[in-house]
Amino acid sequence: MTTQGTEKNHAAIWQNCLKLIQDNLPAQSFKTWFEPIVPVKLESNVLTIQVPSQFFYEWLEEHYVTLLRKTIKQELGKEGRLEYSIIVENNNSKPYTINLPTAHGQKYENNEVNIPFNVGTTIKNPFVIPGIKKYNIESNLNPIYVFDSFIEGESNRLARTAGVNVAAKPAGTAFNPLMIFGGVGLGKTHLVHAIGNQIKQLHKNKIVLYVSSDKFTNQFVDSMRNEKFNDFMNFYQYIDVLILDDVQFLSGREKTQEIFFQIFNALHQSGKQLILTSDRAPKDLKGMDERLLSRFKWGLSAELTTPDFETRIEILKQKMYQEGVQLPQEVVEFVAHNINTNIRELEGAMISLLAQASLNRRQIDLDLAKQMIKNFVKNSSREISIDYIQKVVCDYYKISVELVKSKTRKREIVQARQISMFFAKDLTKSSLKTIGMFFGGRDHSTVIHACQTVNDLMETDKQFKNDVVEIGKKIKINTV
Ligand code: ADP
Ligand code: MG
Repeated sequence: MTTQGTEKNHAAIWQNCLKLIQDNLPAQSFKTWFEPIVPVKLESNVLTIQVPSQFFYEWLEEHYVTLLRKTIKQELGKEGRLEYSIIVENNNSKPYTINLPTAHGQKYENNEVNIPFNVGTTIKNPFVIPGIKKYNIESNLNPIYVFDSFIEGESNRLARTAGVNVAAKPAGTAFNPLMIFGGVGLGKTHLVHAIGNQIKQLHKNKIVLYVSSDKFTNQFVDSMRNEKFNDFMNFYQYIDVLILDDVQFLSGREKTQEIFFQIFNALHQSGKQLILTSDRAPKDLKGMDERLLSRFKWGLSAELTTPDFETRIEILKQKMYQEGVQLPQEVVEFVAHNINTNIRELEGAMISLLAQASLNRRQIDLDLAKQMIKNFVKNSSREISIDYIQKVVCDYYKISVELVKSKTRKREIVQARQISMFFAKDLTKSSLKTIGMFFGGRDHSTVIHACQTVNDLMETDKQFKNDVVEIGKKIKINTV
């Protein structure tokens, strides 16, 4: 590319980046964090973008750096880089620029830790490194998630106390495994990282590993594909404290469960600690091997529930302290009062508020908070469950949910069942197998068939398409 060509193109390049970014983010985040960005120039593969404040820059770096880099590389090739130009407050002279990469963000984004950014086609797992030494294993723990920053309240007391005990004596308490469960955004990941960090501090020679169930599954699948299964198994035998996050994602994955069952037994028998999280109580997990479920019940299951008003205030105060900002007490109370679903949303609301204030150069007062919360509550999206989808579809057709789970082949019921499966596939992360489970134990090919049927019918039957669109709206609106 010639310099002349690229100079012209910075706006177009950024437009393309935005398209990719938009596909990967909730609408609200995109609006808050990407719409205000102005592309400034493109010079020898360095795209410069202007952001409204230092805070804004830090937030991007901490939360979106991976996405940004991927996007830039996709648009500008391997040599592509990004620079920020920050508008400096109280100084209307020249903006200054900061280069990426920086120390922030890259490693801890979304808790998906050690997947190297530049992965190309092969993801290197630690277990394929030959002659692996004990101290080489990266724990994948986020240092921000510690007990000190985990506010205690009624909603987490049991789980937190159990965690503190396990950290003091890994595998030396009755809590093995320790299973932390509760809805999205209630602090499961934070708590198990805190336990892991504490163990590393108190027991320097213990090898701690945090891994999400998705990643565990991928590692296993890759190891089979690359004939590295033995390395995979060996690697896991080294671990003294294994933290497996979101075990509900193992639902319906029989082989992975089987392997995890073996690893679980081996570790447990040799006096190692297991810590698990799940979005629901073990008894409510579907598509799980009974033997594995019974293992989950061996130790202690502790639930995280929605924090009460006082705890929400404490959490907000702590986050403000971390961000180095202050909000008027009435604003804090207003936010805590109105966002009562989960802690992730609570934080999200506060962060949007700060972003707004920083964008508009305006103090955060109750009015601004009221305006913002109205939008936030409207736009934020909750995790959608299959149960919920079934309920909305069945309400729409005025039939009972039991019917879509039954064997009935009546036309209207079949249709409601297929539409529910279609949305379950579209709007949740569940595997086909798990979706089948929710419909009276149907198999994955039935789910595929349902999705195809719905897609086909939407093309040919206008009324049907309207129904599906309407139902889709209801599912999305009501989840706010
Ligand atoms: P989950 O894994 O249950 O979906 P996370 O652990 O990711 O939830 O928590 C969501 C956000 O809420 C994180 O930023 C976390 O730091 C914060 N959080 C959760 N519980 C607490 C708590 N008790 N005190 C302070 N922050 C918390
Ligand atoms: Mg989590």
